[in-house]
Amino acid sequence: MPAILNLSLSRRFEEPMTAATLRLRRALTRLAPAFRRLALRNGHLASLTPVQAQAILFCGRTRPNLATVGHLARELGSSHATAVGIVDGLGRRGLLERRTKPDDRRVTLLTLTAQGKELFCQLEADNPALERALASLPASEQERVAQALESISAHLAAEGIFQLSAPCPGCCYFRPQADPASSRPHFCHYFRQPLSESEIHLDCPKHKPARLASVG
Ligand code: SF4
Repeated sequence: MPAILNLSLSRRFEEPMTAATLRLRRALTRLAPAFRRLALRNGHLASLTPVQAQAILFCGRTRPNLATVGHLARELGSSHATAVGIVDGLGRRGLLERRTKPDDRRVTLLTLTAQGKELFCQLEADNPALERALASLPASEQERVAQALESISAHLAAEGIFQLSAPCPGCCYFRPQADPASSRPHFCHYFRQPLSESEIHLDCPKHKPARLASVG
């Protein structure tokens, strides 16, 4: 048996998981293929591959000045070159455009075309199976499950497994209503800039959950 496998097996027996940890781990592992199937189903409807669908969702959900190829690569867990290939493919299909960031010419921003936006709306809306499954939980339970999953995501993101993008509410850098009379009443202490109501609902790759600000 290879040494590395021996090591992982011995660790596993030295530190046995509790029954709850084991159940949670199995539940999450089982959900992964279900989400892949949902993505495939959506991708099939829009004749996109799952990873192309993920790229379209990234561009539609992320704050426009942060929708860069680099952030897309981290979101997909891919290399920069792979992300560029995906962007090129979507560009050839007329779904996505690149433009140089006005204040930093080294950075390329990704924008959905009108056709890309249409597809984004379909991908966002077309998930009735998931919506039915979520609606089966009472609201209070949805809140608890959301908090638990957010905690797991934040820990995995802190270990560099993937990039955690999320809207501003709940971020440790977010100051809501810092200037209530302004058209951009909220404030971000990370970027040191005011934010409008619509901006705070878009995903940000720099989001850091306030509850877990000490992680990472
Ligand atoms: S760092 Fe936090 S507060 Fe600032 S824009 Fe990103 S999510 Fe919003």
